[in-house]
Amino acid sequence: RAKNDGRHTARFFNARLQEEESLRLRLSRDLEQALARDQLHLVFQPIADAASLRITGYEALLRWRHPDMGEIAPATFIPIAESTGLITPIGGWVIGRALATAADWDRSLSLAINLSPLQFRDTNLAAQIERAAAAHGIALSRIELEVSESTTLLGYQRDAVLATLQALQAQGARVVMDDFGTGHSSLSNLQDFTFDAIKIDRSFVAAMRDHPPSASIVRAIIGLGRSMRSSIVAEGVETEAQLADLRRWGCDQVQGYLIGRPAPNVLDRDQARSATLRTAPR
Ligand code: C2E
Ligand code: MG
Ligand code: MG
Ligand code: MG
Repeated sequence: RAKNDGRHTARFFNARLQEEESLRLRLSRDLEQALARDQLHLVFQPIADAASLRITGYEALLRWRHPDMGEIAPATFIPIAESTGLITPIGGWVIGRALATAADWDRSLSLAINLSPLQFRDTNLAAQIERAAAAHGIALSRIELEVSESTTLLGYQRDAVLATLQALQAQGARVVMDDFGTGHSSLSNLQDFTFDAIKIDRSFVAAMRDHPPSASIVRAIIGLGRSMRSSIVAEGVETEAQLADLRRWGCDQVQGYLIGRPAPNVLDRDQARSATLRTAPR
């Protein structure tokens, strides 16, 4: 019996794997045409000052509207785009489109763009960003570049990645470590490069109220940011209670569904600048 069950299980997993593999194949084929066929678009999620909840800027997040499958999340298609190399043209498109959109915003608002490690390899990224910013009349000081730990960690071209980030920083752009705490050797990354901001991964924020170790980690990251003079952004803030804790612990900025969901654009410039929430009770 047990043997039989095992075989069933194996067959089940095989079927699942095959399904996943054929979906990947299909998506990688379709993704090639997505750019040309105008299926990609950006949504923008606000980032706010933790104390005042004033919105300081927006993060551009990529979406794919598949003709048959509907909206596909980046967690599904970014890895495919990275494995096929499509992330380079797609990432270039994101830079151009995000800057074109931000050109209409109030000048006080910053724009955060996510970068994939491959973009550092295949293009002169610093020049690409500088050119696009100039074309849309956006000061580099309004641009934040989010890199995840995997980007800075990559053994290959580590020096080249750091040089590119340094060049952009020297031009006034802010460099942000995204999803901090989830990668390998998180801390050693902070030794070799001064990030302007560090984003606490939302898995820690989600767990911190019910799981004391997560709260300790969040507080430690906030302390680390203070001593390294990097601002700390908490992502995935969904509840008033989380916001209250983060404020109490001295977190600088917050982002999450509580403050605002990603939306096609900043709806109203003035509305964007004013606080969208009441000040939380202390
Ligand atoms: P990320 O940069 O860490 O972005 C935050 C993700 O958390 C977004 O998911 C956002 O929609 C989601 N999120 C924000 N607030 C909340 C919240 O309160 N609760 C929950 N549960 N989720 C929240 P999204 O848009 O699906 O993006 C996932 C990841 O895909 C991003 O993580 C980023 O790493 C990557 N990504 C998105 N756009 C781009 C892009 O243009 N280029 C590259 N290379 N990567 C991108
Ligand atoms: Mg990000
Ligand atoms: Mg993040
Ligand atoms: Mg994240």
